[in-house]
Amino acid sequence: MTTFHSLGLQPEILQAVEKLGFEKPTPIQEKSIPYLLENTGDLMALASTGTGKTAAFGLPVLQKINPAAKKIEALVLCPTRELCRQIHDDFQNFACNLNGFRQVAVYGGANIMSQIKELKSGAAVVVGTPGRVVDLIERKNLDISNVKYLVLDEADEMLNMGFKDDLDFILSNTPEERQTMLFSATMPAEVNRIAKRYMNNPEMLETSLANKSAENIEHSIYMVNASIRFDALRRIVDVNPDIYGIVFCRTRKETQQVADNLIKAGYNADSLHGDLSQAQRDSVMAKFRSRHLQILVATDVAARGLDVNDITHVINYNLPDELETYIHRSGRTARAGKKGESIALVTSRDKSSIKILERKIGKQFEIKRIPTGEEICDRQLIKLVDDLAESNVDATEVERYLPIITQKLENFSRDELITRFFATEFTRFSAFYKNAQDINLATSERRSREKEDRNDRYVRDDEGSKRGKKERNRGRGGRVDFDRFFVSLGKKDNLNPHRLMGFINEFPNLQGIAIGRVEIMKSFSFVEVDSNFSSTLVNTVNGQKFHGKPCVIEPASSIKPKKDRDRDRGRDRDRDRKRKR
Ligand code: AMP
Repeated sequence: MTTFHSLGLQPEILQAVEKLGFEKPTPIQEKSIPYLLENTGDLMALASTGTGKTAAFGLPVLQKINPAAKKIEALVLCPTRELCRQIHDDFQNFACNLNGFRQVAVYGGANIMSQIKELKSGAAVVVGTPGRVVDLIERKNLDISNVKYLVLDEADEMLNMGFKDDLDFILSNTPEERQTMLFSATMPAEVNRIAKRYMNNPEMLETSLANKSAENIEHSIYMVNASIRFDALRRIVDVNPDIYGIVFCRTRKETQQVADNLIKAGYNADSLHGDLSQAQRDSVMAKFRSRHLQILVATDVAARGLDVNDITHVINYNLPDELETYIHRSGRTARAGKKGESIALVTSRDKSSIKILERKIGKQFEIKRIPTGEEICDRQLIKLVDDLAESNVDATEVERYLPIITQKLENFSRDELITRFFATEFTRFSAFYKNAQDINLATSERRSREKEDRNDRYVRDDEGSKRGKKERNRGRGGRVDFDRFFVSLGKKDNLNPHRLMGFINEFPNLQGIAIGRVEIMKSFSFVEVDSNFSSTLVNTVNGQKFHGKPCVIEPASSIKPKKDRDRDRGRDRDRDRKRKR
């Protein structure tokens, strides 16, 4: 078995590692530590957070530098201030036995003057975010001309966050003889460009070994549509009573909505997104880290800095737009040798994305059925029993009440007492799921969705993008049968095609349905809708208000052509006139 000892680390560092409780090196450490200790060449590794990558570069770098140097010998660049602080803390632990070791963390959103002051005292290591590092270099407070070791941590994230120019600037201002180490969870073209331009024939660490934590992730999907998405989330959470998880959403608004709905329904949840102040975000993250919060609903950007080891579930409320993001999301579970589950709520539209993802992660998704109310109640009840059996009871606290308790309950048998206890404790779930339906999409609906899928149907997307129009046209040439409807609102009511589709899609039972040609006239409109949903459309939308005005919607076939209507109107007028006479 490989041990830290056998990797060539010096006693001061080995003691620190031991103090941290690391028993054996992770796969990436096993590979990178001996390589970096013995070589001066560059290194590139596919590794996400949770694989032990900080120690993989940190331990050898700390062994190679002069810890008491006043000029910067090692520069570590990372995308966020949270990660920056974390690497700084990890380095402090790794270097606890290195005499005279000094380092400075420099990141945006914090007072630059105090960072400058710290830099003036001299340091061997600087850990920083690219923007702040450039700022400090330009102010001539950070001298990187002596850097021997340069680490690019989470390189893909730095590029995603728009640090490309800053990285170019920093990399071209460090000595060419430096040893460059690049760590990235994914290897998009931009990361490869950086590697090609600034690295010298780097040693590549094997993916399968480096991404060992990925092996412990179980990937599952649940088929949903927009109207059951939230209910499916609830059920997944309920069937996993010990969940400690992150729910990823695409937008800040959706994040807030999902969190609000969970809180309203009694869950220990909170939101993390960019509309919150830094102080609010720090407080939510602290609550989550300390496990005072069970479910965190977050956007990808806001969750970037969050580093928590014991996450049991990552739930993709939607698949992310960039599929690479799925890998970052799922990498937040199954850390440090633990197991975890990455769940995605998907629609039949996501099929091709799922296929691409399966290739990327090298695993197949397990298609799971949304649990029924009965399954949830079973699971929750068992949890209640287990908790009761395992709880550490301090009998002394109730001792003095025992006589009165015994007296009041003496007429109940043991079985009656058990039944009463559980019936009382179990009300939340049993009441909620008492008459709950199976919400898995019916086979017919699934089939109809698959049919829509094949036809590249038009679906409103939140941006109302050009993609929509293109797909609509393709859809029209396909096999969706559309019915045409008359809508009693038009341009003068502020209606346009996008708003009309938005109006229709707002109703939960109409979300995502195929919409064909839309014609908006001055005071009325026509819209084509998948004929499978014709009666649902009429029953749902008729009489509903658009911008305060009631909308009448009916099959266009029942509307008489204009000339007929004019003729009718003429007849009515004649009749009226006759009557008046
Ligand atoms: P990282 O990928 O560097 O963010 O590390 C993820 C977590 O794993 C951190 O909490 C580390 O402290 C922990 N860790 C790193 N290496 C080991 C190891 N060899 N054994 C146990 N835990 C480790």
